[in-house]
Order: sequence, then structure tokens, then C-alpha cells
Amino acid sequence: MDAVVLHMNLIAFSMKTKGLRNFARRLWTVFTRFGFTEARTRTALYALIDLLHDHHAAPTFFIPAVVLQRHPALLAAIVGAGAEIGIHGYVHNDYRTLSTIEQYKQTRQAIEVFQANKIPYQGFRNPYLGWTEQSLNVFSSLGMGYESNEAVIHNVIDRAQLSPLQQGGFEKSLQLFQAIDPCEYTLRPHFEGSLLRLPTSIPDDEMLFDRLRITDPVEIGRIWSQVMQRVYDYGGVYILNLHPERGVLCRQALATLLGYARSRPHPVWIARLDEIANWWRERSRFKLRITPIAPQRWRVEADCTSRSRLLARHLIIEDTAIVEAPMSCPTTCIVQAEQYPGIGLSPRTLPQVATLLTEQGYAHMTASPEQADQFGLYLDLPEGLGETRAEQQSRCGTLIRQIELLDAPLLSFHCWPDDYQAALAISGDIDSVTIQDFFLRILEVSSAKVPYVKTSHAINNQKNLA
Ligand SMILES: [Zn+2]
Repeated sequence: MDAVVLHMNLIAFSMKTKGLRNFARRLWTVFTRFGFTEARTRTALYALIDLLHDHHAAPTFFIPAVVLQRHPALLAAIVGAGAEIGIHGYVHNDYRTLSTIEQYKQTRQAIEVFQANKIPYQGFRNPYLGWTEQSLNVFSSLGMGYESNEAVIHNVIDRAQLSPLQQGGFEKSLQLFQAIDPCEYTLRPHFEGSLLRLPTSIPDDEMLFDRLRITDPVEIGRIWSQVMQRVYDYGGVYILNLHPERGVLCRQALATLLGYARSRPHPVWIARLDEIANWWRERSRFKLRITPIAPQRWRVEADCTSRSRLLARHLIIEDTAIVEAPMSCPTTCIVQAEQYPGIGLSPRTLPQVATLLTEQGYAHMTASPEQADQFGLYLDLPEGLGETRAEQQSRCGTLIRQIELLDAPLLSFHCWPDDYQAALAISGDIDSVTIQDFFLRILEVSSAKVPYVKTSHAINNQKNLA
């Protein structure tokens, strides 16, 4: 590639992500945050690993396959130190610019690089969180366990304080990340077919540092702690995205966040994304059987693992004197309640509603409209949960909120294992390890658009470039 084309690509790349004004600053930070060797990135990665280790936890890092290919020993070492590694594209490109077949080929190529380097993987996060509906099918068909692309934006930035330029930049980030609003539903993992989706929460470090120029560790620690409090109140998962290139810069802010999470009245589960994914999979197999044995008395059988908790609301558990408290599992007990302790569904309600309630852990049963008064909440949803993704998100969010606020008997599986109220995962995208990686990324993104021949050939091409 000649200098002119490279130059044009640099310009196009910078205009797309940050704007020209930020590009000069970005170039400078590349030289200060990366080095010509792995040393600086290694220090940053271990700063994050060591800090989390103090909290008996470990981080999840996502890396483009071509970058992994150039630094396999470093990646193997951090896996040995307890970190999880996920896939961040074959190269660092935006899947929204790729056809379905290209997404498939590049995802498969990335998987092959991970396998060839014996780096275990379970999850995928797209560069720029740039997922499409087709990406989800591609990830499912290639057997990915989870993806972590849905970006939930928390209202923790005082936008009135921002300059017009910063406001514009912030809006651009929200569009780029296809940001959605926080609620109980959007802050919980959820399945789409066999693929598990783990929501990530923004603003991330890049938005704060590069878009908003917020670099004070105390202020960043305060913002992240505020997000933690909101996620905690919703009982969801806070997945923070912190680029390891700012690992040292953000160490203090991250320590503040972890300390804040640890000081909540109920414990917060600090875990890797694969641990959270494994738990949600385990939880999805739990079963709740509720059989009437007498008026206002039910036998409850919770078929689940010992890590789970059964939540009982507005009912009395016989022989225990427990009211509205989490119960250890698996369990069989008798409960007294004025109504069936779950959600009633009309026969014509689409099966997707029952699937949602099961995944979310709520007891439910189908009953005729004449029996509706036997339920605290009886749903008649023949049109289901909506056609478009936006409609579904909105209806699911409203429904889960309605159930959580329900003033009626209800049995449900708690979202998190043991006695955890919420979850926190520290994740980071290793876009580059060295200065060379940063500049190769521009070449790689354009060469990845060259028609695909076969994987080994493509990998060799990348080796030649390196
Ligand atoms: Zn990235």
C-alpha cells in the first residue's frame, strides 16, 4: 500500500471515529500509551489483573485475532494469571460495514487464530460495539457462547456542563454505540436463541477521556461508582469497558469503583464475563413447579443448583416463619398465598412471553380468562412482545418492571448466585499491544476487505505485514 492510500485511510479512520481535531491528540497519546515493545502494555494489563486479584476476581480482555497472533506469549501469560480472553474481531473493523458472509468469514478466521494459539475463548465483542442483527446469527452459527455489545448508557454526565463540541462528540458516541436506556431488563443478560447477550455499560473510559476530557481519577471513580449504584438498584450486571492502554491511568478510579462495589449493603459479585455467562446458562435450566394442594396453599418444588436462591414475595412459607426472604435451594416447601404465586398467561398469549418469563426466573402458568382473578398479574398478549427490536426491548422492559413492582404473591429465581445483589465485571479491549500494532491496524482493516481466499493464506498475509 502506498503512502497516499495509507494517508487517506488514516484520515478516513480518524474522521469516522473521533474527528480531525481529536486525531492529532490521539496520535500523541498513541506514543505515550504504547511502546515499541510489549513492556508498557504488559505493565498496564498486570496493573488491572493485580488490582482485581486483591478483590479475588479477574478481568476479561477482548483482542483482535491478528493482534493475538503477534503476541501469543503475552496473551498466554495473562490467561495463566487468571484473565479471560475474548475475541475482538479478526481485525479491528466495524462489522456494520461488512456483509453477512464477510462477518462469517472473519469471525471464523478469528476463531481459527485463537484455536491455533490455544487461547480458550467463549465470547465476542465487536470493535466500536458495532454489531448487527446478522452478527448475532453469525456468532450463533459459529458456536460462540456469548457476545457483549449492547451498550446501556447511564445518565451520570451533567451534559449542561459540556462545551458544544463535547456535547456533539458525546452524541456521536451514543449513536456509534447504538446506546439503549437502563432498566431491570436491559441490565440483565438475556438469550437470543443459543447466544447469550451480556450488556455493557457506558460511558466507558474512552468516552470520558477522549470525548469529554474527564481525566481526573477522583471524578472518574465517582462516575463509575454512580453507575454501580444504579446497576445495583436494578439488580443487574455492570460490565465496565476499560481499555488496558489506560490501565495505569485508571488504576485509582478502578480501585474506587471496586471499593464502592465491595461496600454495598448486599454483596456485589465481581466476576469475569465467562463466569457470568456460565451462571446464566446454569440458571436457565432451573425449574419451578407449583402445585395447588388446598385453597391458598401450594407445594413448591425448585429444581436448581445449590448456588441459586428462590425469592418469595407477599407469601408465607410454612414451617419456616420466613416472609419475603431468599431461600436456599434446591428446595421443596409449602407456601400460603392469597393468589397463585406467579404470573398467569392466557392460552392465546404467544409462547415467546412464557420463554421470557422462564428465562427471567418468574413462576408462570397458562390459565383461562375466567381464572384471571386468581393471579396478581394475568397477561393476555396474543401479539407477543412486538415486531421490531426496539418494540421488543421496550415491551420487555415495561413488563419486567411491572413484575418487579408487583404487589402480589410471587416466586422467582434470584438473578445472581449465592447472596449477590448485583454483578460487576471489568472488561477491556486490547486494540493494540505496541505502536506497531496501532499503525498496522489501519493496514489490516483495509486488507481484510480484500476478497477472502482461505484462512491459512489470509493469516500468512497478516504475518507478512507484521
Ligand atoms: Zn476496540
